[in-house]
Amino acid sequence: MARVLVLGTRNVKKRREIEEILGDLGLELRDLSQFPDAPEVVEDGVTFEANARKKATETALALGEWTLGEDSGLVVPALNGRPGVHSARYAGKQGDDAANNARLIAELSPLPADRRAARYVCTAALADPQGQVHAVVDGRCHGVIVLQARGAGGFGYDPYFLIPEYHKTFGELSAHVKHALSHRARALTKLRPVVRSLLVAS
Ligand code: IMP
Repeated sequence: MARVLVLGTRNVKKRREIEEILGDLGLELRDLSQFPDAPEVVEDGVTFEANARKKATETALALGEWTLGEDSGLVVPALNGRPGVHSARYAGKQGDDAANNARLIAELSPLPADRRAARYVCTAALADPQGQVHAVVDGRCHGVIVLQARGAGGFGYDPYFLIPEYHKTFGELSAHVKHALSHRARALTKLRPVVRSLLVAS
């Protein structure tokens, strides 16, 4: 029987992105929608790593399964690193993408394009069923924030996140291209050999 790896997220788009990278390893990937009793992990860490570790450990312990915890967000140097770990609730309410984008654009509008550089960051942690973390990896993806939304793909800040090499935002690029370039893809590509050796080969 295939080993289970729990993906510590309820975000369907994140889940699909993770599946594209780890889906062929022969594991049974399950997200939190399949565990109604999974705890709601409070993301009160001050770094992406602290939150990723917390999600992995608390979820693994509660469910007794290997778990991948992931925390991600947008970092804008001209805003002293904001929204950072507060990306999902930048305007106050958890997961309100429209309000988060509105706040970001209001803050960046006065600045010239060369001060609107930004990066997406993703940190992923892998915990065993006892909650012990075996690996922590991260990935980054660099871009520029545009002031008008472009495209309807992706989620969160994607319609405003321009990849200069493609002259397109993550909202305009296909899922296939986003998943090749993204911070999450870069982090999970590093994690893949660890998952393989700990869960597939053993
Ligand atoms: P969390 O990792 O669930 O705490 O939330 C991450 C938040 O960062 C999301 O709600 C988005 O606002 C933002 N974010 C992270 N990754 C992406 C991405 O790939 N596209 C767009 N927004 C993202």
